[in-house]
Amino acid sequence: MNNTLPEHAPLTQFPIQDNCLQIGGISLTRLVHRVGTTPFYAYDRHKITERIGLLRQHLPTEIQLHYAMKANPMPAVVQLLAGLVDGIDVASAGEMKIALDTPLPPDKISFAGPGKKKHELTCAIAAGVILNMESEQEMMLIAQCGERLGITPKVAIRVNPNFELKSSGMKMGGGSKPFGVDAERVPDMLKQLHALGLELIGFHIFSGSQNLNAEAIQEAHTQTIQLGIQLAEQAPTSVKLLNIGGGFGVPYFPGDQALNLPVIGENLQKLMPVIKRQLPQAQIVIELGRYMVAEAGIYVCRVLERKLSRGHTFLITDGGLHHHLAASGNFGQVIRKNYPVIIGNKVHGTEKEVVSVVGPLCTPLDMLADRLSMTKASIDDLVVVLQSGAYGMTASPTAFLNHPPPTEVLV
Ligand SMILES: *Cc1c(COP(=O)(O)O)cnc(C)c1O
Repeated sequence: MNNTLPEHAPLTQFPIQDNCLQIGGISLTRLVHRVGTTPFYAYDRHKITERIGLLRQHLPTEIQLHYAMKANPMPAVVQLLAGLVDGIDVASAGEMKIALDTPLPPDKISFAGPGKKKHELTCAIAAGVILNMESEQEMMLIAQCGERLGITPKVAIRVNPNFELKSSGMKMGGGSKPFGVDAERVPDMLKQLHALGLELIGFHIFSGSQNLNAEAIQEAHTQTIQLGIQLAEQAPTSVKLLNIGGGFGVPYFPGDQALNLPVIGENLQKLMPVIKRQLPQAQIVIELGRYMVAEAGIYVCRVLERKLSRGHTFLITDGGLHHHLAASGNFGQVIRKNYPVIIGNKVHGTEKEVVSVVGPLCTPLDMLADRLSMTKASIDDLVVVLQSGAYGMTASPTAFLNHPPPTEVLV
């Protein structure tokens, strides 16, 4: 073994008892019986609650936290988070329906995403949800829908900034983007709002996702707030909301280090006096998906077969890329890297082996771990993919090869 290879960051969020992973206070072997079938996703409500507490502890008290639902739209998870955060950001009419089922008031829900259709806009206006406008054309459509309903639409402008979030896993701002309105075109839009009968709530500036570099996030926050202040000066009414995005990352791969949240909080604390002076009416919102839920979730599947092929051992499981595309390396990864994967019912085995974990799909892409050192597993042992609470089931092609979809439980 080459000792210089980076390893996965130690993941200690779930206790281990009798060598078995515990989630939601239940041992994994017992949870399997409770769920009834493998594969499944399990999310730990206590871990989600703890994570929101950590954010509140380190971020200025004036900052509002929104949950970006696309990371995990399981209704039970969304209901739990609705009681912990200040608002929910949705990206489709389907997600909006789940958010409206929570006790949150509709003006704490905002709807972003390009290509919103007339009927979706109509639903949102009728509900009183804030529409994050992605283009001038969408602004015109919203005005038409509002007029037809006789309701004043509440809108925010999603701005494509003139800078980007450096070292981000997925860049969603800066340069040419399908998201938001280029910053230099926003002043012209602002001039039209009043005549179109739209109520401006504020601005939404989201520049990227899965970032573990605290310095890059600090820089983006500083620039985002400057841009927000500049745009607010040109707004016809005072700005009530400035959504400065999020993008806080979690460690997935060997060599990744957890995000330094305290320094991000300190930087925001330093920016608060400027914000209070320049945007006295504005609520500052940070929207996070992954950071709130990823580490609270696991994906569990069962070893069906140990297969030896020319000296290499494969564990063939009942789970795979159709349930967990991200762990297979096919959701935005440039070079395939292993998620943290363990044998959940034998976490610390004395006997280790290097194996590849694959699923039942007839494609070489169906791989959950590639040449990873794990406890030696037997048939019926439980393979656990950690860091699976975000972009797991929801980002997976569950219809591919027509196996049954996984169950999801909140424990
Ligand atoms: C995807 C998305 C998010 C959530 O990103 P995470 O990396 O899960 O925190 C937030 N806001 C917008 C606009 C998004 O598109």
